[in-house]
Amino acid sequence: MPKVQSLFRADLHCHSTCSDGTVSPKELINLACEHSLQGLSITDHDSIEAYAEAVPAAESKGISLLSGVELSAVHRKQSVHVLAYGFALTCPLIKNFCKRHHERRQKRLLLILERLNSKGLFLKQNDIYDSLNGDSTLAVGRPHIALAMIKKGYVPTIQEAFQHYLGEGKIAYVPGEAYSVEETLDVIHQAKALAIIAHPHLIYDSRVLQDLLLMNFDGIEGYYARFPSSAHQRWIKIAAKKEWIITGGSDFHGTIKPNLSLGNSWVNEETFSFLLKHFKQNQSFI
Ligand code: AMP
Ligand code: ZN
Ligand code: FE
Ligand code: FE
Repeated sequence: MPKVQSLFRADLHCHSTCSDGTVSPKELINLACEHSLQGLSITDHDSIEAYAEAVPAAESKGISLLSGVELSAVHRKQSVHVLAYGFALTCPLIKNFCKRHHERRQKRLLLILERLNSKGLFLKQNDIYDSLNGDSTLAVGRPHIALAMIKKGYVPTIQEAFQHYLGEGKIAYVPGEAYSVEETLDVIHQAKALAIIAHPHLIYDSRVLQDLLLMNFDGIEGYYARFPSSAHQRWIKIAAKKEWIITGGSDFHGTIKPNLSLGNSWVNEETFSFLLKHFKQNQSFI
């Protein structure tokens, strides 16, 4: 019997417990195996901490791992996520940028807690770090605050925490001195990595989208989460016109986004090899 070759699939967007995912980096690698994925990139928010654990786990399981991170940025006062792929994990520029984000996130947490406090929702920093196993070196985010609000009985769901308090423009929303998209692109390109517009499906302000499409990106996340292929066509056409790469991934977060599974969206071997080749050609000097 000829051996049946399974279809190559790589999920290029997922989160671990190093940011607001609920699955550890090692467990993400195990899940990738269970879902028959051959390639993976862990794209935590503003953090590459997951790779210390993920690299040896991926080696032992035979999963191809591509370095990645989802960087928070701001444009026209709105939140924009930028994916970066193919940097060296030792790259001081990326490490330093993540460190600056970490400081920004810690300061932002205090400001959000002040706002919640003034509305009668009393939470301490330690309550928030509970869902990060008390580890203040990790990327603390609004979902961690939402989880603490649920624990205290202030809101029933994460969704409601965002809807009433933490979402953009709500009473406890603090952008927290985020960096511009342009500055983020500069850092990514200085690190000789590739910059991708994350989940354009979720950019509802057409002015923001139009501006981003004129910037110096290398690609767009055309395949995202559980959006149907009809929703992907628009981004695939744009990428073709601009000669941009089309990436894809699930944005898996574990139980905080229970509707998503690892591998819900993915890229094929050609795209994954292109990204790996870029990495090997550009980072071999490090
Ligand atoms: P942060 O990076 O701390 O600003 O938090 C952003 C993350 O919060 C996103 O990546 C999502 O995981 C989550 N998030 C944003 N908006 C919502 C929402 N309306 N409901 C639930 N989660 C959300
Ligand atoms: Zn997230
Ligand atoms: Fe995102
Ligand atoms: Fe994400």
